[in-house]
Amino acid sequence: MAQGATLKFSSAVRGGPSCEVRSPLGYRLTVSGSTNDIQPKVVDGDSSMTGNLALVENAWAFTLHKEFGRLAPTPEEQKSHRKQAEVHKEVVENIAPLLDSLGDEVLSDWCSGCFTYSDHVKVEQEGLKLPTYICETCGTPTIPCVAPGCAYMAVRGSGSIRLPSYCAEHSHKIPSFERAADKVARLEDYATLYEYDERNLARATRVVAVAGIGAGVRAARR
Ligand SMILES: [Zn+2]
Ligand SMILES: [Zn+2]
Repeated sequence: MAQGATLKFSSAVRGGPSCEVRSPLGYRLTVSGSTNDIQPKVVDGDSSMTGNLALVENAWAFTLHKEFGRLAPTPEEQKSHRKQAEVHKEVVENIAPLLDSLGDEVLSDWCSGCFTYSDHVKVEQEGLKLPTYICETCGTPTIPCVAPGCAYMAVRGSGSIRLPSYCAEHSHKIPSFERAADKVARLEDYATLYEYDERNLARATRVVAVAGIGAGVRAARR
């Protein structure tokens, strides 16, 4: 059985919280910052890991929820943060092993993760039942859309069962990639459009809101 990725959380001692992610082959990503940071202040490690936006954002969201869970005053809040930390941890554990075997083959097409026309780098790993790629723009694992004749890239599911997927256009999440691309700058649209996905960057977008609220609550208590 192949070993998975590991996440090591360290709580704030003097600086802020941090997390070290190791891929199965030992490639490293470290994210650290303060609990007010929407993005990690420091991103360090191997380029295959640090260059993947979804990995970085979810590792940081995991870190924030672990820290917020530690600081939360009630058991309910602690539990809620622990649950959300687990969601981001799963995304990290889904992506990191794929980054160990990025190949040379590149497909250029619309991405259902970020709705941009992007390069997708093939993952050359044994045992993958579906041809899997990593979007260069958003870092999401992608697979070619299962709709006949469609060359767009669908989001590859995570978890133990991975089924063939439709791209965002064929699953009617967006009317068309071309029009969706006009909207990517608007965060509120991201949230609505991503709502139907199980695992995606919207979770990172959501944690940003949670992080902001948490920071506000603590600031108000001072
Ligand atoms: Zn993408
Ligand atoms: Zn399609």
